[in-house]
Amino acid sequence: MDFSSKLLENAVNEVSRLPGIGKRTALRLVLYLLRQPAEHTQYLSEALLHFRNDVKTCENCHNISDTTLCEICNNSKRNPEIVCVVEDIRDVMAIESTAQFNGVYHVLGGKISPIEGIGPQKLQIDSLVEKVEKGVVKEIIFALSSTMEGDTTNFYIFKQIEKYKLITSTIARGISVGDELEYADEVTLGRSIVNRIPFEQSIKS
Ligand SMILES: [Zn+2]
Repeated sequence: MDFSSKLLENAVNEVSRLPGIGKRTALRLVLYLLRQPAEHTQYLSEALLHFRNDVKTCENCHNISDTTLCEICNNSKRNPEIVCVVEDIRDVMAIESTAQFNGVYHVLGGKISPIEGIGPQKLQIDSLVEKVEKGVVKEIIFALSSTMEGDTTNFYIFKQIEKYKLITSTIARGISVGDELEYADEVTLGRSIVNRIPFEQSIKS
């Protein structure tokens, strides 16, 4: 791409670093901003900067939050005895949108993937086991994607907490094998939570 302006080129280069955005799309977006009032670019930049600088992770569930305890963990109507284990915030959002779950979450921050060099120590697994050790948790629901990495992660965690004799379940596989949770429709995902199955049954089948 031949740019007539160094400023334009820099802006396009920065925007095109985002995933799924090529140089052409970046150019279109940057030119769009140029046609808008200058405040729009200012609000966009400020929103991104505030987000990046001020956002926190909940110290209980590790979800993205504005406060040290997220709204879900802080809500006295939620049941802290039931913990739904998910990969990241997108899964929390997907499950919340079903309005079928009244417990709390534990956000792992990914799943075990030897190929990508992600071992258990890179995930929030120890803090989950600690939570279980403290005795507040009565039930763990595994709600990871039903991929090989998801199954490996479920099983690894299950082995760590097996001795505490909790109720462990996994979301019903209305979710197709290999599906990422965030792409499941609300009805299917909602039903999967309600009709969850005992974890040990899921690993035998
Ligand atoms: Zn939280």
